[in-house]
Amino acid sequence: MRNYNFSAGPSMLPVPVLEKAAAQMLDYEGTGMSVMEMSHRAKCYDAIIKKAEADLRTLMNIPEGYKVLFVQGGASQQFAAVPLNLTVNGKADYMVTGNFANLSYKEGSRFTKARVVASSEDKTYTYIPKTTLADFDPEADYVHITTNNTIFGTKYNTLPDTGKVPLVADMSSNILSEVMDVSKFDVIYAGAQKNIAPAGLTIVIVKEELLDRAMPICPKMLAWKTQADADSLYNTPPTYQIYIAGLVFEHLLAMGGIAEMEKINKYKAGLLYDFIDSSSFYKNSVVKEDRSIMNVPFVTPSKELDDAFVKQAAANGLLTLKGHRLVGGMRASIYNAMPVEGVQALIEFMKKFELENK
Ligand SMILES: *Cc1c(COP(=O)(O)O)cnc(C)c1O
Repeated sequence: MRNYNFSAGPSMLPVPVLEKAAAQMLDYEGTGMSVMEMSHRAKCYDAIIKKAEADLRTLMNIPEGYKVLFVQGGASQQFAAVPLNLTVNGKADYMVTGNFANLSYKEGSRFTKARVVASSEDKTYTYIPKTTLADFDPEADYVHITTNNTIFGTKYNTLPDTGKVPLVADMSSNILSEVMDVSKFDVIYAGAQKNIAPAGLTIVIVKEELLDRAMPICPKMLAWKTQADADSLYNTPPTYQIYIAGLVFEHLLAMGGIAEMEKINKYKAGLLYDFIDSSSFYKNSVVKEDRSIMNVPFVTPSKELDDAFVKQAAANGLLTLKGHRLVGGMRASIYNAMPVEGVQALIEFMKKFELENK
């Protein structure tokens, strides 16, 4: 039996994807082997990675002039890769809108003169600070933002105007969740384990004109150009994760693409926020216009009730609802693969829990 898993990541994958992977587990399309057992240089594998990239390009409408890279090391490794690949003038601007944003800023500080342009730490990251072009250093090598803040449940609805300064985005927890104009970004990166595939794969989408800026000390394996020149096959890529990512891309295309996913995601998030807002028992502290449609943190009136909620929800097949230790309470991560029924089941449980504990 499948439970509804509200984990922030690794998280649910679409059932049709899991079923197809299961059916192809022992014998991938008559090759007599599992994708896990294939050489990354084999012809049959080449078709898998090429199709995954092509489908991602279609889904995100990635313009000409951008490279798509499949790499390892997680989004956290890109925290270092970004400055190592982009530093020319020796300074960079960071928006600190959450824990991962702060970690990327700190890692950036090891390689460049990183500056916090704005932070929402003063209000426990419950909002996205507003900026204007004048807030950014025109000589910065890049501006780094986190489009969705997984732990605190906020997201950018309006991108900052950074003028000519390249915009770099950590999109780990909301890539493919809503239509985004890739041409507004210079670099996008995302760990796969939230909205794409099993952990172990990181996707980097980078403007080709930025590939020649790596610092001399940049390790070869972290230089985007290394993988760009080798079509992500410089060394052994996470082959199985790329295959699953490809199945997810196919599935999303069959569902109607990202515009359709955005509709469903907004509907799901709307159900949950409307219920929380209508209740005097549950509370979400995020500024309304900055609310994430992927991660929804909420609390009950007390820590004891929060603990009881998480326990009883799990006993009812609603898993991994405990909030991040930095926030406490609960967090429902409702990525693409979470069905509407899962959100409805959560709301029904919330109603019942409220009645029993008010
Ligand atoms: C999960 C997450 C990360 C960390 O990803 P890893 O792949 O574990 O390194 C970084 N940024 C954001 C926004 C995340 O949600």
